[in-house]
Parts: sequence; C-alpha cells; structure tokens
Amino acid sequence: MHDLKPQIACERLIKILRTKGISDERVLNAFRKVERHLFVDPALRGQAYDDNALPIGYGQTISQPYVVALMTELLQLGQDDKVLEIGTGSGYQSAIIAQFTRRLYTIERSRALGEAARKKLRDMGYQNIVFKIGDGTRGWPQHAPYDRIIVTAGAPSVPKTLAEQLAESGRMIIPTGDRGRQELEIYQRTESGLEKEKAGGVVFVPLVGDHGWEE
Ligand code: SAM
Repeated sequence: MHDLKPQIACERLIKILRTKGISDERVLNAFRKVERHLFVDPALRGQAYDDNALPIGYGQTISQPYVVALMTELLQLGQDDKVLEIGTGSGYQSAIIAQFTRRLYTIERSRALGEAARKKLRDMGYQNIVFKIGDGTRGWPQHAPYDRIIVTAGAPSVPKTLAEQLAESGRMIIPTGDRGRQELEIYQRTESGLEKEKAGGVVFVPLVGDHGWEE
C-alpha cells in the first residue's frame, strides 16, 4: 500500500472518507487538489494518505484527514467568507480551506512551524492566506469579525475573545474538553446568542495560550 502513487493513494483515502460519512463533493475535491504528501516529513510520505495524524515536529501533528474533512464540512464555507484559523501547523488544513474562501487568516503559536507553513504555501502559490505567529486564543481583532472560525487544537472551553470575533450568523468549530480528549463543538451565532451542537469525540494537541491551557 505504501508504494502507491500519491493520486491512487489519495483516491483510496477519499473512499475511506466517504465510508466514514463525508459526502460534500467540494470537500472531497479539495482533498484531491491539496497533496497531503507535500505537508509531511519526507520520511513519512508513504503514510501521507493513511487516515491518521502524523508528527510534524515540535511535539505537534498534522491532523487526521477524516477530522480535517469533517471540520471543513461542518464549517459550511462560502466563497465570500472571511475565515480565522487557529493552529496553522503544517498548513494542510489552511490549504484545504483556501480552496473555498476569499480570505483566510491563520495564526500559529510555534514560530518554526508558522514560518515553515508560510513559506510552503507561498511557494505553492496561495495568495489568499494571511499568516501570523502568536497566541491565537486572543484571536486577530484587526480583521474581525469572521464569518467562520476554526480551532485545530483542543481548548479547555471556548475562548471568549474568539466568540466576540465571530460575525452575525457566523459559525465556529472548536474541540473542547480536557488535555487528552475533546468533543468537537459547533457554535452558530443567532439573534438570540450562540447556539451549540456537538459533533463527536476527537483528540487534539492542547491549545496553549492566555485563553487556553497553560504550557
Ligand atoms: N491544522 C494543522 C494541520 O493541518 O497541520 C494541525 C494543527 S495541530 C493539530 C495544532 C496546532 O496548534 C499546533 O501547530 C500548535 O502549535 C498550535 N497551537 C497551539 N496553541 C496555539 C495558540 N494558542 N495559537 C496558535 N496556535 C496554537
């Protein structure tokens, strides 16, 4: 399996995503366009299209493809949406989101990871992604409000700063729970406040920052 050509391995992954319930063809097509093997360490490229999280250095991970697909589907992205992503990591989820939207703002706490992702995505030609190194739990007030917010690290609870930066009718996807295990939550801003739905258990590295976990 591990010697498959990337395109063939990617189609096999897409089949797995379908069997797990991902049905939005736009999301599945984004998985075809964004080549995951270019976002993992060359030594791990044979595993790039397995449905697993993989290490990207500095104790962090590129998320499991199913979780990337699920969160992207749950975001219900429109092309005019302004999106804020917390946790750039390898830049893979950023590249997937950038297939759909006008502008993505992405924040990474690790300078090494953030700068590597910025360089990679610039070299790949992405022009609709704006990068920042810093504590994403504070959000990015200069560009707020955001139509969509996605947090790709596990939070103890929803940072109030992020809730404040969510636009009217905005939608936020965030894993919350304890340091080792979380529940994926969807928040939708309505006239009467924030409505919450749950989308199942997940495991993310911790969201570390002023409105997250302590280091
Ligand atoms: N979405 C990424 C990808 O596709 O590669 C994976 C993200 S990884 C699971 C979580 C990332 O969140 C890590 O790179 C970590 O450094 C980052 N992170 C943790 N706390 C953060 C914070 N307060 N602000 C920004 N990034 C943070």
